Order: sequence, then structure tokens, then C-alpha cells
Amino acid sequence: MSAQKKRAIWVFGDYRNYFQNRVTLQLLARARDLAGKIDAEVCAVLFGYWSEEWVDDALSQNPTFCGVVGESIAHGADKVYLTDHPRLAAYRMETYALLMERLAKREKPEIILIGATTFGREFAPRVAQRLKTGLTADCIGLEINEEGLLVQTAPSFGGNLVAQIVTPECRPQMATVRPGTFPEIPHDSSRRGEVVRVPLPKDLPEDRVRLVRSERRPQRVTKLEDAKVVVCGGRGMGSKKKFAKLFELAELLNGEVGATRPVVYADWTDHETLVGQAGKQVRPQILFSFGISGAIQHTAACNGAKFVIAVNKNPNATMMKLADVAIVADASQFCTALIQGLKRRIR
Ligand SMILES: Cc1cc2nc3c(=O)[nH]c(=O)nc-3n(C[C@H](O)[C@H](O)[C@H](O)COP(=O)(O)OP(=O)(O)OC[C@H]3O[C@@H](n4cnc5c(N)ncnc54)[C@H](O)[C@@H]3O)c2cc1C
Repeated sequence: MSAQKKRAIWVFGDYRNYFQNRVTLQLLARARDLAGKIDAEVCAVLFGYWSEEWVDDALSQNPTFCGVVGESIAHGADKVYLTDHPRLAAYRMETYALLMERLAKREKPEIILIGATTFGREFAPRVAQRLKTGLTADCIGLEINEEGLLVQTAPSFGGNLVAQIVTPECRPQMATVRPGTFPEIPHDSSRRGEVVRVPLPKDLPEDRVRLVRSERRPQRVTKLEDAKVVVCGGRGMGSKKKFAKLFELAELLNGEVGATRPVVYADWTDHETLVGQAGKQVRPQILFSFGISGAIQHTAACNGAKFVIAVNKNPNATMMKLADVAIVADASQFCTALIQGLKRRIR
């Protein structure tokens, strides 16, 4: 007689804005609490294409827990279902819903939790419909009752009432949860988990939606003039595409992007980011200066910076002389390396 399969609580891994939006990790933490009450395992379900950006050596012999798989395990997952394929590089509603449906029909989880992000709010109902089960949207609380059912607390009737909803018959029990509802558990690199690679189905239908272009929309954390960290880029970044990396770096550092005049004139970024005589005055704790020569019209507006890190391929550039730390390197390559390094370290 085969051993009975352990019950499972699944958390869908929404890692697009991982460093800003920690809802996946928050859900893993809550899932851990709930799993203890129904003797279940916690599983993260990850669809995507991370080979380029994420060094996920959780899959290697000697994991140091970087990347999305390692992060999921270190934050509470016992098991990770992973489909890693170039076709999944961009989030695609239809494909993701189909993958989730197939996997859930095969593995039969007890509960599926999904972050109520823009994507999650669209994705979860589609999955629920495919699995012919209920879904409580935008939960602000999750508990397990005496019967072992998931009690899903969600605002209803325009927020005038708070409803407690259970799904007694259909499986899985499904909920989306607002980001910030639960605290995440601290990263624990000593945790170990199982990784189940799920191949992309061969009969996956052609995508009906064609992605023409995608672009990170810079998130303004604070005003450039007040930012504690400013990541400034100049012509030495090389191109608009490479310059865009600075926005990612600034997000990771909770900072803002600044730019020199040629860069603004070349339309690599908007005029709002111009630092200098014709633009904004900045006085951050840390100023990064990537590929900037250090003309007076620019530097006059950053001399209030406490600590300056300059990256330039020319060691004699004025900006390098003004900097506390001067790094002789290709600006774009250094920026990419810094982003990767930070992603490995931020928990
Ligand atoms: C009236 C007036 C007002 C102005 N107001 C402003 C202002 O408000 N703000 C402003 O910024 N400018 C202003 N300027 C323009 C200013 O004089 C400079 O031309 C400008 O700041 C230079 O920008 P930059 O450093 O990006 O470009 P560049 O001077 O062309 O310098 C590019 C730097 O990138 C380095 N580099 C090249 N390739 C690489 C690489 N692959 N990796 C690393 N480094 C590399 C180069 O060694 C160089 O140091 C003004 C000018 C005038 C006349």
C-alpha cells in the first residue's frame, strides 16, 4: 500500500518586483504557520526564466541560497515546483494559468495562496475557474478552523463588512492576499528543501498575446533632491538600454536616478532627473556617478553629497578625482555586476 501523500499549501511565486514587493515571502511565512495546524508541507510554485539574471545555486551541490529557489526555501518552503523556460520570461496570463491548472490537477494541493498584486488579481480567478473551485480575493487574514478548513478573512460590501469565508467542498481552497498583511520570516540559509523541476508541457498552445516590448517603470521613492542615495548616470553608460539599469540599481538601493545633460538630451531619461546647473541640486548620503566626466555645470549641483563613488573608464576624469572611491571600469558592466551582487545579498 502506498504511503498517503502529504497535504500541501502552495504559494505562487510572484518575483517580478521581488525587492519591492515581498508578498511571496510573506505568504510563505503565513503558509508555514497554517501548515503546522493541518500537518501540511509548504510548496512554492515558480514559473519564469531566471537563468540570465539569477544565479540560483540552490540547485547546485553546494547551495549558498541565492536566487528565487533558494529564497523560497530560506523563507519557509519545504518544496519548490520550478518551471524555468525562456517562454516564461515575461508573465503571461494564459500560459501561467494553464501551467498552474495542470500542476494543481496533478498534485492536488489543499490550499493555493497568491499575492494580490496586479498580476495575482488577474491570475488567481483564472486558475480558480479552471480548477472549478472558489476564490476569496484580497484577504487580510488567514486561519485554520477546528475542522481544518482555511478561514479567509476579506473586506466585503465595499469594505463595510469583513467576511470570513470557508470553502468546505471544493479543492483547492484559494485566496489572494494583500501585500503587507503578514510579516515574512527571516531568511534562514540553513533550511533545506526539495526542488521539483516541472518541464514545460510539449502541447503548450501558441501565445495569443505577443509581447512587443517591456520596460521597467521607474518607481519614485522620494524626490531626487531629498534622496539619501542618488545613482547618477552620464554619457559613459553607453545607451538608453544600458542607462535603464540605473533605475533597477536605484530601486535596490531605495534611491533615485539622476542624469547629466547629454543623457537627458539623448532622451535616455526625462528632464526631471537632470542634475546640475540647469537641473536639480542633490545632497545624498551616497552619490554614485556612472560614466560622468565631472563638468562644473554638473558637479556644482552635487557637492553636498557626503560620499561619492565614481565609475569611469578614464581614471583622470574630473569626477574620479572628486570621488571618495574611484573605480576604473566600464560603467554599464559595473552597474550590472553591482545589481547582481546586491540581489544575492538582499534578504
Ligand atoms: C550653460 C550650460 C548649462 C549646463 N547645465 C548642465 C546641467 O545642469 N547638468 C549637466 O549634467 N550638464 C550641464 N551642462 C553640460 C556639461 O557642461 C557637460 O557637458 C555634461 O555634464 C557632460 O555630461 P557627461 O559627463 O554625461 O558626458 P561626457 O562629458 O561626454 O563624459 C562622459 C564620461 O564617461 C566616461 N566613459 C565613456 N565611456 C565609458 C564607459 N564605457 N564606462 C565608463 N565610463 C565611460 C568618459 O571617460 C567620460 O568621463 C551644461 C552646459 C552648459 C554650457
